[in-house]
Amino acid sequence: MPKITVLDQDTINQIAAGEVIDRPCSVVKELMENAIDAGATAVTVEIKDGGISFIRITDNGCGIEKEQIPTAFLRHSTSKIRSVEDLLTVSSLGFRGEALSSIASVSQVELITKTAEALTGSRYQIHGGKEISLEEIGAPDGTTFLVRNLFYNTPARKKFLKTAQTEGAYISSLIERMALSRPDVSIRFIQNNQSRIHTSGNHNLKDLIYMIYGREIAGNLLPVEAVKETVKISGYLGKPLISRGNRTYENYFINGRYIKSNLINKAIEDGYHSYMMQHKYPFVVLQLEIEPEFLDVNVHPSKMELRFRNQEEIYDSVYRAVHDTLAGKELIRKVSLDT
Ligand code: ADP
Ligand code: MG
Repeated sequence: MPKITVLDQDTINQIAAGEVIDRPCSVVKELMENAIDAGATAVTVEIKDGGISFIRITDNGCGIEKEQIPTAFLRHSTSKIRSVEDLLTVSSLGFRGEALSSIASVSQVELITKTAEALTGSRYQIHGGKEISLEEIGAPDGTTFLVRNLFYNTPARKKFLKTAQTEGAYISSLIERMALSRPDVSIRFIQNNQSRIHTSGNHNLKDLIYMIYGREIAGNLLPVEAVKETVKISGYLGKPLISRGNRTYENYFINGRYIKSNLINKAIEDGYHSYMMQHKYPFVVLQLEIEPEFLDVNVHPSKMELRFRNQEEIYDSVYRAVHDTLAGKELIRKVSLDT
């Protein structure tokens, strides 16, 4: 038997990084979430080469104090929770304190950041988890992360990446979802020096839907508004005539977080049931606001899944909101009139 030893921190970080960061898109997701958690009202994402060689994310959020920067890159370091009890009320997108350490362990990161209170900004470089430099420089308030050469030190992981074009497409659809989740944040996406998306942050969800999905969809929407004890629902339902061949157009956000949930898909589809042809799926963009104590977001490192404490009530609220919004509307191609 070989000797049993504890892995060194770099190895631990690289292994752990695999759970959070599996492709350029997950880097963009984590850094955009951090920007939003930092209170940014404008976030710019630039990528080159599908994000494999270059990702730069700039925000106008609160920034990080110079003394705190190295700590932010340690595993399990976060400013968002202090104890397990805080998980019950957490309203930030992040809280696991894993993203920066994970990203830095598998890429070359340069951070430039400045808080409003500080007189100068800081520049920090960390490559493959190894600190290179920390110095003062002039910088605007806010934070810029530059992530270069993802997986340069883990060739086995790099092999699993798809083409730059495919990786870029994942990022592009992530940014569309992030934009839909936060109509109050101006989001800009630049791919290979070309501006792809630029949202105004004017709070108008319908404008965003128009910008992302085009006129046909934006012209066939029904607004939804419903309030139950623990759930508030708002957003838009696509009329059945703009139904789609798959579920990718069922967008919903819980407390601003894009998630996937079979329960919510089912509630939406059941609500549309009598209006939809078989094997067709609706277009929806729904914002759900649920008291954090009814949610467990700490199910998976990607935080794309969550558990509801009051499943039936959630199902019922979504189903009712959809059903009642569609009922009595002039909808072409109504399939049957039951329910
Ligand atoms: P988490 O988001 O789960 O707290 P991260 O590893 O993503 O963990 O980030 C660690 C900490 O670094 C955050 O808690 C936050 O305090 C700080 N931070 C990260 N990104 C930003 C940013 N863009 N602006 C301000 N602070 C940031
Ligand atoms: Mg984070």
